[in-house]
Amino acid sequence: MYARGYTASNDGNISVRLGAERLLMTPKSVCKGFMSPDMMCITDLEGRKLQGDRDPSSEMLMHLEVYRQRRDVQAVVHAHPPIATGFAVAGIPLSRAVLAEVLTTLGSIPIADYATPSTAELPEAVRKYITAHDGMLLANHGALTVGTDLFSAYFKMETIEHFAKISLVARLLGRENLLAREEVDRLQELRGSYGIKAPAPICSDPAQPIEGPPGAGSVATCQVVEAPAGTGQRLVPDSALGLRARAASARTSDEAEIRLTYRELSALIEEAVRSLR
Ligand SMILES: [Zn+2]
Repeated sequence: MYARGYTASNDGNISVRLGAERLLMTPKSVCKGFMSPDMMCITDLEGRKLQGDRDPSSEMLMHLEVYRQRRDVQAVVHAHPPIATGFAVAGIPLSRAVLAEVLTTLGSIPIADYATPSTAELPEAVRKYITAHDGMLLANHGALTVGTDLFSAYFKMETIEHFAKISLVARLLGRENLLAREEVDRLQELRGSYGIKAPAPICSDPAQPIEGPPGAGSVATCQVVEAPAGTGQRLVPDSALGLRARAASARTSDEAEIRLTYRELSALIEEAVRSLR
């Protein structure tokens, strides 16, 4: 993670289940690029240190919460990969149906609410999404992934950062074609034949809130993906969708100004004309 720039200085932490009662965890205040085996800590599932000279990670509470909520999870990885964390800072979830591999493995990558690092707020923010997701962004902080073994958890971190890079490039180029809902449904069926055990199904309904179910304390039960109806097409240009999202966020303030490119304005007019027919 350090070599790939997913962590700087002492950022990030990793843990693995050691049987039913114990966890192996990276220590507090150590750079992940310069660790040695003797620095590792062993704790119980309540976070009590059983072995090791150093104290366990300052984000131990978040790890413990994941293991409590997900009996299937064997490893937890937390890092601050810069492009994905940029999306987490911008408040933009990686929930658009764009890449088949991301949909079959992670489904959607939501953003857990902002919480002060190392406090009990963070496990609480993570709880909303962890039962239905193997990866999420943490608002203004970083990303969290889980897996059935250490490398599957780590590879999901790689997938998130890779997906964030691709999404950033597509958005810089000014356009994203989205996979149609029908195609997303087909990919969901393929999960079975690929042997992917996702914690929850994809719900590819753009009418549902992308951020998850409404209400504080509620828990996501499916992986909400932004995928428009294809009406025969497998790829759908995002111009109209993006506009609707921006208009919706602008509505929170009557004074908000929305700037449109010529292409977006044309798409909006076209859509309005089509709906009048
Ligand atoms: Zn962190």
